[in-house]
Amino acid sequence: SAVSPFLDPGPRTTPNSLAVAHLSRDSIQPIYLKETSGTTDGYAEGPVLNTRFGSFPHSTLLNKPWGSQIRASVVDTGSRGRRLKREHGEHVADGEKLDNSKGDSTPGTTSSRDLKVAPSGFIHILPPTPELWTISLPHRTQVVYTPDYSYILHRIRARPGMKIIEAGAGSGSFTHAAARAIYNGYPKDAHDVKGKVFSFEFNHDRYQQMQKEIEDHRLDGIVQITHRDVYNHGFLVDNESPGAECVFLDLPAPWKALPHLARNRPTQSQLSSSGLDNLQDTGSEWKSPLRPDRTAYLCTFSPCIEQVTRTVDVMRHLGWMEIEMVEVAHRRINVMRERIGLHLPAGERGSTQTAANVEEAIAKLQEVEGRYKTSRGQSQDVDIEMGEDDETAVENNPIDGSKTTLLSSEVEGAQSAKPWMSGRVIHRTEPEIKTHTSYLVFALLPQEWTEAQESAAFESWPCGK
Ligand code: SAM
Repeated sequence: SAVSPFLDPGPRTTPNSLAVAHLSRDSIQPIYLKETSGTTDGYAEGPVLNTRFGSFPHSTLLNKPWGSQIRASVVDTGSRGRRLKREHGEHVADGEKLDNSKGDSTPGTTSSRDLKVAPSGFIHILPPTPELWTISLPHRTQVVYTPDYSYILHRIRARPGMKIIEAGAGSGSFTHAAARAIYNGYPKDAHDVKGKVFSFEFNHDRYQQMQKEIEDHRLDGIVQITHRDVYNHGFLVDNESPGAECVFLDLPAPWKALPHLARNRPTQSQLSSSGLDNLQDTGSEWKSPLRPDRTAYLCTFSPCIEQVTRTVDVMRHLGWMEIEMVEVAHRRINVMRERIGLHLPAGERGSTQTAANVEEAIAKLQEVEGRYKTSRGQSQDVDIEMGEDDETAVENNPIDGSKTTLLSSEVEGAQSAKPWMSGRVIHRTEPEIKTHTSYLVFALLPQEWTEAQESAAFESWPCGK
């Protein structure tokens, strides 16, 4: 089968594959594009994506270069809807618009009979990425977000061709990012890759939903999900070691899974000093799920500091090293060209602005520009906090501490026409750091050296002879 669109989306949208409809910056919608062969229910449009920006028959979204802007369909299906209702013997009031509540079973789509008359707008059609999936996926649990998982994957050194263990799978947010990180891109068949995500989930419903999603996203060659309680039954798959070099645990009690991630069967004293002496089931023939000839890198993800303390304690008893806790405090900073503001009288705002007003605006801009240059030099950063509505801004003057409220002007045309007036780069910082997600605990377990490896290394070392 074709490679997953998450790994290699190709140049264009294709039928029966996942795409992402980008409606606006804060509104995106995953959508399985369906092939439209001929007509559906007697209507030519086939399946349709209905949004508040208009209706988009899948036929208008297929075979488009990724990133294309798609205009809403201008088909007026209201009359069809009325005709359909009449055919079903339902009363239709004059001027009645079509009810849009009867979508078919595919998320984000409705059949053509449910097309509504909508204002014509546009959307962009984007390839699925782990980042877009994370903000649009159906939430079944708390998920790991991009700022955390990008840092985690970097710290546990996930690279193409590697094996990674993850538990629990939850909603699959981390899983998608991990799959992309370890995909080695060759050969171009997701069923024959070296890298692999071994994912574990003990909740049966979530396991089944994840399994289906992984298949729908054509990630089943690179992600293997196992229905398992890892506290009691560890991480072997078909009684074989995954040979993992990196591990990510997003579990309520990660310390209970740690004894299964040792290089050798933990001793009874290690277990009891970890408070895990009731842990019986480490398997009769003990195998480590870790790759023996490499250092293993681990991250655990826990919202409470008590979980961290417990995890770190057990890590130390089991020989993990370089233990470190990190919290990612993510803050979004928007960098943009300054739109220098003007205080125009209310009556002079808007599209009817006269040439005289533009002249006045340019003069005002020159004055403002000059004021900035003299007060702090042309290249210096300006501390401007944009208002909630993007229409006003407060400029904090670092010299005299004064604050000036600026109004976004309607003279951007004039600004861009005059290079000397083009806005300087400013930034807008989110007022507050997003709420705490979790503490990340990182640790590593060095590889173990056998006698044979020791002597081979000694032999090959020039000074050893
Ligand atoms: N990392 C996931 C994501 O990004 O979507 C979210 C994981 S969610 C917070 C934690 C998951 O761990 C839940 O789905 C839960 O069912 C699973 N879980 C809890 N205890 C487990 C255990 N002993 N073995 C396997 N999975 C477990």
